Amino acid sequence: PAAPAAVPEEVRRRVDQLRRAIEHHNYRYYVLDAPEISDAEYDALMRELVELEQRYPTLQSPDSPTQRVGGAPLPEFGTVRHRTPMLSLDNVYSLEELRAWDARIRRLLPGESVQYVAELKIDGLAVSLEYEQGRFARGATRGDGVTGEDITQNLRTIKSIPLRLRASAPVRLDVRGEVYMIKSEFARLNEERERRGEPLFANPRNAAAGSVRQLDPRVTASRPLNIFCYQVGTLEGIDVPSTHWERLQLLKELGLRTNPNNRRCDSLDEVIGFIEHWAERRHQLDYETDGIVIKVDRIDQQERLGFTAKSPRWAIAYKYPAERAITRVRAIEVNV
Ligand code: NAD
Repeated sequence: PAAPAAVPEEVRRRVDQLRRAIEHHNYRYYVLDAPEISDAEYDALMRELVELEQRYPTLQSPDSPTQRVGGAPLPEFGTVRHRTPMLSLDNVYSLEELRAWDARIRRLLPGESVQYVAELKIDGLAVSLEYEQGRFARGATRGDGVTGEDITQNLRTIKSIPLRLRASAPVRLDVRGEVYMIKSEFARLNEERERRGEPLFANPRNAAAGSVRQLDPRVTASRPLNIFCYQVGTLEGIDVPSTHWERLQLLKELGLRTNPNNRRCDSLDEVIGFIEHWAERRHQLDYETDGIVIKVDRIDQQERLGFTAKSPRWAIAYKYPAERAITRVRAIEVNV
């Protein structure tokens, strides 16, 4: 094999600068719920770093922000170790990249038919809910993916999170979902804060994250929060379906709130139709979305595809162009 390309000094410096900038913005976003730059600007920094690490593999390192999920838990909260890690998602930014992802999946599963589930990507805060003997036992933030913050008392105040599952058997379940703030209520909350001279939330996502990560559950209770559940982590005590789609139906039967717009797709063209269908319409929904998540439907195929350090190979997030409207030009300057 050819020796890896030598790394020019300015590339090394740029990578270093990008890593420090991204770490800084991760802290602002995940720990303080107070971002300083837009997601599009952040994504541009991350993409640039990913591209440089791909071009110069000797620069890759396990502690690079490209290899890690989220941020460290706040010390004020107790911690919860996730029974299965809560990972991030890889992104694609065009239909062309999505087609390349699909081609890769098919290469890894030669001769098999592949179905997908397409879901709106809700822009909120990822949480894990644990049920034991059918009762809500614990809830946590994603944190760094391995350990999250214990926010059980706060999650208990969200009315669409059932305290007991609708099951006759003593089910043990870990489920992942996204807690979000209703857009119209977000505007009202900010108006109220303005009147009281309190700092405004940057967007519904930060308002949701700030509301859930409160030390006083009464504050959480006063905020208009809701949840969509999108993934089974572990499930014991009842028959577990062998496809993601059927698992979503089961979650609903158990009393958990799932997004009614999810769709099972037999082909990539159908997925692309779904992406196009929601491109404009999603703005009319009363929650924020920043893309479409596409998941391989069959669990046995998911298992064979497996994971990278940071994300599953069997899922991808397609990001709509509006989310990256701000060009890389502005992101070139990183002053951290
Ligand atoms: P991500 O948001 O790209 O994707 C992973 C997350 O998608 C999951 O954790 C889950 O919470 C969520 N999700 C929503 N709907 C889902 C569904 N139906 N199925 C599965 N997952 C679903 O990844 P990330 O690691 O959370 O962080 C990246 C995001 O955070 C980017 O959008 C980035 O712009 C933003 N960010 C911004 C700043 C900033 O300073 N502005 C800093 C850090 C991160």
